This record gives sequence, C-alpha cells and structure tokens, in this order.
Amino acid sequence: MSKPWGNFYGHAARECDDCGRAFYPRQGWERICYPCWRAGKNAEEQELSEQAGALQKKAQELRTLEGELEQWGKELIEWEHRLKLREQHAANEWPGMLMRLIKLAHPDRHDNSREANDVTRWLIDQRERLHPG
Ligand SMILES: [Zn+2]
Repeated sequence: MSKPWGNFYGHAARECDDCGRAFYPRQGWERICYPCWRAGKNAEEQELSEQAGALQKKAQELRTLEGELEQWGKELIEWEHRLKLREQHAANEWPGMLMRLIKLAHPDRHDNSREANDVTRWLIDQRERLHPG
C-alpha cells in the first residue's frame, strides 16, 4: 500500500479494518481507527450495562424467591407440627375408641347377629394391627 499521508505519531497512516478510512495509529499496532474503536467500545459498554441490569433484575428475583422459599419452609414446619399433633391425638384416641366400638358392636348386644360378629371381628383385627401382641 502506498503511503500518501506520510507519518504521524511516528507511524505511517493505514486503512481502518472496519470503515476503510485512513487513520494514523498512535501505537502503531492499531487495526481500526479511533471512531470505530470508540463505537465498538460504546456498544460493548452498552451491552455490559444491559447485562448488569439483567443480572441485577435476576438477583432481585432470586431474593424474592428466597423470601418465598423461606416463608414456605416456615409454613411446612408449622404444618408438620400440626400433623404430628393430630397423629399423636389420633394415636391416643384410637385405642379407647376401638374398645368402646368393640363393646358397642358385641354380638351379645345384637342377638348374636352375623353383622355384629363380622364387625366385632374386624374391630378386633384393627386393635391387633394397632397393638400387635
Ligand atoms: Zn474506522
């Protein structure tokens, strides 16, 4: 390439790889002119700024989710507690209720009916299942 523009900054002019315009590289190794470099830099900064904004939004969403998760965790513990209480209550209540049901259903009270026998046998099976042995 001819060098019609002479030297500047101690370096020969060259054509910008991006826009093809002549420019004087300050360091000698630049391949694009300052306006093209600046435009690229601006686009880069713009993109970085958009990415940072998107990341901040994501971080905010994560914090919100974290808060919801923590709340759900608390509710879960609360429900587990209630369930345990209910199970304990049922465990305490069942044996006594079964005994009363067995008494109520006893065949002696129902003319030794087939139904009374079936129900009593079933209730006794349930008691055996709850308290084997
Ligand atoms: Zn250029």
